[in-house]
Amino acid sequence: MDNIFAARLEELDRQGLYRSLTTYTPVSATHVRLGDMECLMLASSNYLGLTHHPSVRQAAADAAQLYGSGSGGSRLTTGTHPLYSSLERDLASFKGTEAALVFNTGYMANVGVLNALAGAQDVIFSDELNHASIIDGCRLSLARVIVYRHSDMADLSAKLAATPCQGLRLIVTDGVFSMDGDIALLDRIVVLAEEHNALVMVDDAHATGVIGNGGHGTAAYFGLAERIHVQMGTLSKALAAEGGYIAGSQVLIDYLINKARSFIFSTALAPATIAAAQAALALIVAQPVLVRTVQENARYLRGILADAGLNVGESETPIIPVLVGNTEKATTLATTLRRNGLIVSAIRPPTVPPGTSRLRITVSAAHSREDLVFAVDRIISAAKAAGI
Ligand SMILES: *Cc1c(COP(=O)(O)O)cnc(C)c1O
Repeated sequence: MDNIFAARLEELDRQGLYRSLTTYTPVSATHVRLGDMECLMLASSNYLGLTHHPSVRQAAADAAQLYGSGSGGSRLTTGTHPLYSSLERDLASFKGTEAALVFNTGYMANVGVLNALAGAQDVIFSDELNHASIIDGCRLSLARVIVYRHSDMADLSAKLAATPCQGLRLIVTDGVFSMDGDIALLDRIVVLAEEHNALVMVDDAHATGVIGNGGHGTAAYFGLAERIHVQMGTLSKALAAEGGYIAGSQVLIDYLINKARSFIFSTALAPATIAAAQAALALIVAQPVLVRTVQENARYLRGILADAGLNVGESETPIIPVLVGNTEKATTLATTLRRNGLIVSAIRPPTVPPGTSRLRITVSAAHSREDLVFAVDRIISAAKAAGI
């Protein structure tokens, strides 16, 4: 049997698509040790650098001391320790919704909510560049899935009009697209949804703590909190911990507690994780300068790379793609940069469409100006040497 898998792996390798794990030892919010070399991290979703903030670390340590290392049960049995309800209250307040529900990962939140909301009678309209966890949630839901071209409102409108549906219609989109860093046209999606009697769900994994004043996410960025039915997000990126959440009406949350299988059939998160996320959220509320700093750092890096003639696509956020096209070239470039002390991801199919392999750079509020200058010098010279 192993022969079959080995042959499949060889085929991946031939296509330049083989994946393997590298161990990085974190030394700060912005630096990791790789072997005996210290590298600048430009591939993390730790947008505000809060993984290493003293009050976040202290909150995690205190919760572990007070409540133990694990939760010991699912939320519906014995896993709802006291930290959950206060974090969920804070998340709802941050998102401007009645209620919120924490899942164990963002992936599980997407899979759970789509599976719970949509069934065989229903239709989900999904942007072609949505995150893999949305795609998997659509598949598990058994709903009919209509994929529309990326942020193409004419295509979405035509597909809504051409798809009669007895049941529920749901439009789902990333708020900030994870591999391109562009922002969904949520203002226009909402208008189309209302015209066609559809619900709207937005995935704020890369938007919470990152876009708009105060980092409240995509709905707030467009001033649309009341008109978005499902706001999904993660605790794993700007919130410096682990987990996902859904924010929405109390009825939606009660429904998910009863119906979302990834919520029901999995052990609750560790107290330390919840406490860390709550401490990080409190810092974002208390220090909006953190959000402004990541935005300024992103603008700075994006501007310099674009001025040097690199193609950074439509990015408006700390996710900055540098389009390369050829998969091998993207991988080689990332390896060269790593040898020069810089961790940048090479993103290849199937994560992105064939022919659009790229470097993907992410910026954090914790990066200093010297960090960013160090990074652009090396990125630009490596790209030029590779003929990009
Ligand atoms: C990271 C991510 C997720 C999954 O969140 P995890 O907490 O890492 O499981 C979901 N959607 C998008 C757009 C993401 O980037």
